[in-house]
Formats: sequence, C-alpha cells, structure tokens
Amino acid sequence: MEQKIDFRSDTVTKPTPGMLDAMLSAKVGDDVYGEDETVTELETKLANIFHMEAGLFCPSGTMTNQIAIKCFTQPMDEVICDQTAHVYRYEGGGIAYNSMASVRLLNGERGILTPELIEPEINGDDVHYPKTNLVVLENTVNKGGGKCYHLDQIEAIHNLCAIKGLKLHLDGARIFNALVATGDKATAYGHYFDGISVCLSKGLGAPVGSVLLGSSSMIKQARRIRKVLGGGMRQAGFLAAAGIYALDHHVDRLAEDHQHAKALALALAQTDYVAQVTPVETNIVLFEVASKFTAEEVVRALGRKGILCNATSAKTVRLVTHLDISPAMIDQAIEIIAKLDV
Ligand SMILES: *Cc1c(COP(=O)(O)O)cnc(C)c1O
Repeated sequence: MEQKIDFRSDTVTKPTPGMLDAMLSAKVGDDVYGEDETVTELETKLANIFHMEAGLFCPSGTMTNQIAIKCFTQPMDEVICDQTAHVYRYEGGGIAYNSMASVRLLNGERGILTPELIEPEINGDDVHYPKTNLVVLENTVNKGGGKCYHLDQIEAIHNLCAIKGLKLHLDGARIFNALVATGDKATAYGHYFDGISVCLSKGLGAPVGSVLLGSSSMIKQARRIRKVLGGGMRQAGFLAAAGIYALDHHVDRLAEDHQHAKALALALAQTDYVAQVTPVETNIVLFEVASKFTAEEVVRALGRKGILCNATSAKTVRLVTHLDISPAMIDQAIEIIAKLDV
C-alpha cells in the first residue's frame, strides 16, 4: 500500500523540525498574567503586519470569530454574512449562543459579498427589526473554493459600513492565501476592518492557534471574553513560537500550494468522473462529479488509491493542498486521478 496523500484539509499538517526547534526554545511565562513574552511577540507581530493596534492569541479560529462577534454586537442585533460563511455554518450556532444575535444570510457569488447585496439587507431604525450592527466577510471563502476578495471590493464594503455605522469583521482563516494570490498588502487591511481573525493552523502549518486583531480597546474586551470562554492559556508561548516560525517561513511558500491546486484541477478536469471544476484561485479545489456518480463514490475510489479528500455535498468533492504535500505527491496524485476507475 502506497503512502496516503492527504488532501482533506490544510489543518492536517504536522510541525516541521524547524518549527519544533522554535517551540522547544521558546521563552514562556503565564500568559493570563500577561507574562508570556512569546505570546506577546506573536500578537504584536501580527498586529504590525496588518496595521492593527493589538492582537489576542486564541486556541482556534472559531474562538477568534466568536469573540469578535461578541465584541461587535449586543443581544437583539443582527449580523450580515454570506449563507456559506464559516461563522454561521460551522461554528455550532455560536452566534446565537454566545452573542444572542440574529443572522441575515446573503447569496454571494462563491461567497463574495458586494455593497449592492448588503445595502438592501441593512435594517432601518424600527422596533420590529433586529438592529444590523455587523458585517462579516471571509477571505478566502472556504465554501467558495478558496475564492479571494480583492482590496477594491473590500474598500467598497468598508465605505458602505462606515456610512451606515456598521462594524466590519474579517474571518481571515486563510487570509495569507488571499494575500499571496492577489498581491494585496496586509497593511491595507487594518484600515478597512474593525476585527480580523487569522488562523495559524491552516496553510501556515502551526499545530494550534488563531490571532484576533483589532483596536486596543476592542482587544481589551476580547481578552475578558476569551477568559470567560475558558480560552485563557498559561505557558502558551510554546504554541505562539510555532506561529511566529510559521509567519517567518511559511507565507511565501503558499504560492507553491496554489500551483499544486491548479495542477490537480487541470488533471481532474480531464477525467470522465468529473463534470466541472471550480476555477482555482488558492489552495482549494472543488469539483462536481459527473451525473452518474455520487461524491461519496468518487471519494471512496480515490481513497482506495491512497488519495484522501472530502465530499462537501452529494455532488461535490473538495481537495486542499498544504505544507505537507510535496511536488512528488502531486505528480503521484495526478497519475492516480488520470487512471482512476470509479
Ligand atoms: C478553519 C476555519 C475557521 C476556524 O476554524 P477552527 O477549526 O476553529 O480553527 C474559521 N473560518 C474558516 C473560513 C475556516 O476555514
């Protein structure tokens, strides 16, 4: 049996030897007392990269998103996001549970929102309506097959939010994939968003962790909410060190993951079991299976040949490239894809 090639998610990566060395030599302290200098270094480093005032290291991207939504809403407020948004679909109903806010779902093209889509959905000042207070964007869009926002689109949404007095949060679980793909500058983001959530354990390859960025006063409140949620960690510098290492070594190489995803897409498009491949922009390949197959059948057939991936609906399959996928694995995967008998 050949080695498995794991395209299920970019969360499956293991720390590299260099990352493990950085973790082992981290200077740590009790971060709940504010005494872990490595955690502080990571928070400051990311805040500087995005030109935001402050950062907060959290165990997961779900926690950074949920804390941001809690900071930016009051009970009876409403959050606007795309119907595919992670904050709505994959955070366990957390918006209702943590923030007691309602959600207005929009139908973006591959999850991309526009001012034209958002503006009619903003509630006026009327006791019948929940008060619209927050817009959440996702970049890249996970369910949109890794589609990116460009900065001019974000600027337009920011301008609308500024006029309407709405906060704007970015679920940037894969923001570095978007920055590498578009060439947009991270520093511009701080100007457009009130909050940004950045995952270190997706494409960047750290084992654990996300950082929430915002203003100093927002992060002060976020630190309190993190404690209440049970996310205050003690000698977390060992984990923060992995994040710092990832930012120093694993950002530029995301371009390689994007190349790999494009190569897989090309191979898949030439087979008879694939009806259509969503155009690849970053590290996610989404395809629709041919009418006579189910997604599960294609996933199982690939699995028998050592390629691991996930069905994301009855007819769609997702493959994600990442740090632990080598060029040789891509060559091997392309060969298997071409010869596959479903
Ligand atoms: C993975 C992901 C998150 C965070 O997920 P965690 O598993 O909680 O870290 C948030 N948003 C998007 C779009 C994601 O893909």
